[in-house]
Amino acid sequence: MADINSAFQSSSSFYQQSAFYPWQQSVWQKLFTANVTSDHFPHALLLSGVSGIGKKALAFYLAKALLCQAPKTDAKTQQIEPCHQCRACQLFSTANHPDLYHLSTPEDKKVIPVDAIRALIQWSVLNSQMDGKKVIIIEPAEAMNQNAANSLLKTLEEPVANTIIILLTNKKQALLPTIRSRCQTIDLPLPTPESALDWLKQQGAEQAQLMLSLASGAPLLALELMASEQLEVRSTIINQFLSIHAANIDPVQVAEELNKQTSSGKKNNTRGKNKLFITPYDIIYWIDSIVTDLARLAQNCPEKSINNIDYYQSLQQLSNRLYLKKLLQLSDSISKAYYQIQGSINTNLLFENLLIDWQNCKI
Ligand SMILES: [Zn+2]
Repeated sequence: MADINSAFQSSSSFYQQSAFYPWQQSVWQKLFTANVTSDHFPHALLLSGVSGIGKKALAFYLAKALLCQAPKTDAKTQQIEPCHQCRACQLFSTANHPDLYHLSTPEDKKVIPVDAIRALIQWSVLNSQMDGKKVIIIEPAEAMNQNAANSLLKTLEEPVANTIIILLTNKKQALLPTIRSRCQTIDLPLPTPESALDWLKQQGAEQAQLMLSLASGAPLLALELMASEQLEVRSTIINQFLSIHAANIDPVQVAEELNKQTSSGKKNNTRGKNKLFITPYDIIYWIDSIVTDLARLAQNCPEKSINNIDYYQSLQQLSNRLYLKKLLQLSDSISKAYYQIQGSINTNLLFENLLIDWQNCKI
């Protein structure tokens, strides 16, 4: 198993899945029935869709099915699935299948470099070790830099026999058009709210409706929110943010307080052990989420377009007392802030500027 990110992957459950997610049924059906047998599978597939809907899980399950030596066909639906028993399936489940190549961003990096693609191309021309197909998964595809993408392009233009490349992306538009045009693109939609809620409830999710709403309809993201302290982080940030208008608290003071909390949970810090650890990203993310909701309400969007449904009443009232134009300008500044916090910016100053702008949104 060639995997440049093996430390992370060996602990992941992507190799051990025994099914795709319920909302992926129709996509699977389209891709993988006896009519479209694995012999006619496209040589390059681009799975596109927002994060948190199970693209990676689908890609791994597809890979397992493609590599399976005795795939099962459902007599009724003609749908093909891996057998989970053959040697190939067993090797796959333990992340040891030699004909699967998983390429992701190197640890601590955001880019897939050209060297990684060159290594992949060298691997792709070798013979299959299990006498079957070979599968390459690249995710996220938009992480390939220009050179890496150009290098992959040649392989996409001259496909290697019996080798299938599956690219995953959250940002299809960020890919080179030439990469997109050489892949069969499958746009994976959000599941319907009903199927997402059913699934979340089956996972034992409490407050499933709120979680799904906060995750903008993406069920896996909703589950991740529940498993973390994010709900607590969120209410801490939102309450402080709203206090600037609700209780006339000085934005400079709120910025300082929020900024302090981003370091209070770090290791070796002597401040209270039980203090919540908040990252600068959390602060930008939840402020963004509230400002987006407020801008929607200020433009008379319906309640169902709101993510923070548990704050609906207070947001609805507040939205009538804000300058829409300033709110939209604030929204722009927040979009920039996502990039700024990746650099060496003074976060206290950044939060201060955003919160002063927020205070100035008041009519
Ligand atoms: Zn099998």
